[in-house]
Amino acid sequence: MIKKRGIAILGSTGSIGTQALEVIEAYPERFDLQVITAGKNADLLIKQALKFKPNMVVLGDESQLKAVKEALWKEDIHVYGGEEALCQVVQSTNVDLVLTALVGYAGLKPTIAAIEARKDIALANKETLVVAGQLIMNLARTYNVNIYPVDSEHSAIFQCLPGEGGNAIEKIYLTASGGPFRGYSLEQLATVTKAQALKHPNWSMGAKITIDSASMMNKGLEVIEAHWLFNLKASQIDVIVHPQSIVHSLVQFKDGSIKAQLGLPDMKLPIQYALTYPERLPTEFPRFDFAQYPQLTFEKPDFGTFTNLKLSFQALEKGGNIPCALNAANEVAVQAFIEDKISFLQIAEINGLTMERVSFVANPDLTSLVETNSMARRFAEEAISF
Ligand code: NDP
Ligand code: MG
Repeated sequence: MIKKRGIAILGSTGSIGTQALEVIEAYPERFDLQVITAGKNADLLIKQALKFKPNMVVLGDESQLKAVKEALWKEDIHVYGGEEALCQVVQSTNVDLVLTALVGYAGLKPTIAAIEARKDIALANKETLVVAGQLIMNLARTYNVNIYPVDSEHSAIFQCLPGEGGNAIEKIYLTASGGPFRGYSLEQLATVTKAQALKHPNWSMGAKITIDSASMMNKGLEVIEAHWLFNLKASQIDVIVHPQSIVHSLVQFKDGSIKAQLGLPDMKLPIQYALTYPERLPTEFPRFDFAQYPQLTFEKPDFGTFTNLKLSFQALEKGGNIPCALNAANEVAVQAFIEDKISFLQIAEINGLTMERVSFVANPDLTSLVETNSMARRFAEEAISF
């Protein structure tokens, strides 16, 4: 009998988190769900805890902790609150793998804690690699920890690599749907609304990544994520717009051969692969039907209009703490856009201004990254209220 994998899901109440629970539910003989955590959604966390009976739950927002404790007091479930608890629960001896499905900078410290406790990581929280790629990859090497990508593009590349041994990657193509504003001019983007930006054509996701997809920041973050995961230079990473979201990304080898991974857009597949690697388990997911897709099309991204993409490549080239600053500015700007404080185009504007204002640190340690994050947030807030 195969030993069950002990799983911790950070961000179980989110889009990735709830889909991960569906995967776990489909394979009770494979997974032992040890930990689930939420930010604010106490109601859903309680429902999930009662259904899946994990060993531990954490609610980030301590103001509702009492309600969770009361709802679960009869169960044999430990209930904790706050950021520090996230770092502690991932280190439990019964956890083998941590799925980082919380959003944004908040994922950084728990991911470090998990790696230091030698837990493998299924990484959805791309912001952590953008903020601290060098530090995370060094730690993973030191502690001999595997990082399995969950992001569909990076999972696609990861799925193209088995069997290639020492064959080096010449370059990769990250595919992008182009989001709801593909083909828009700057003039058209100036008046788009939050409701339009929140309507992604192909994927149903959390609010932050949906806005990031509309602004192409998501692809920019993914370029930086790919740099760290696959040890590639910026010149080895290309972005190609593919509106149907069927080809999830491609790898080109040095003989010119290109491998791609295809499938219907459904995050459950890359989530499951990250949780069961190297094994592929059978699924009932709908299958791709070529007759439904007589055309798969590809076009160049518009760097002039979607400047976040340009900023991301610049941040990657500059390195050091600059990607961390870009990420912090973007988190603040996206939140401000969601709160109707700024226009859509101001997101990229604030990102660019903030990147220029922070002082450069070539080899930032954790303390320096924490400082950069705070400083960049302050600069972005200032730019918003200006
Ligand atoms: P959601 O917004 O749907 O979910 C985020 C999760 O994180 C929720 O469980 C939320 O809790 C929790 N959370 C948010 N802030 C905090 C905090 N400060 N402390 C503790 N927990 C917190 O996001 P997604 O699931 O869409 O995305 C999660 C990550 O995965 C992101 O990094 C995203 O870029 C990445 N990703 C997502 C994809 C998708 O299809 N959704 C695809 C590829 C990558 P609560 O809701 O209870 O407040
Ligand atoms: Mg993606």
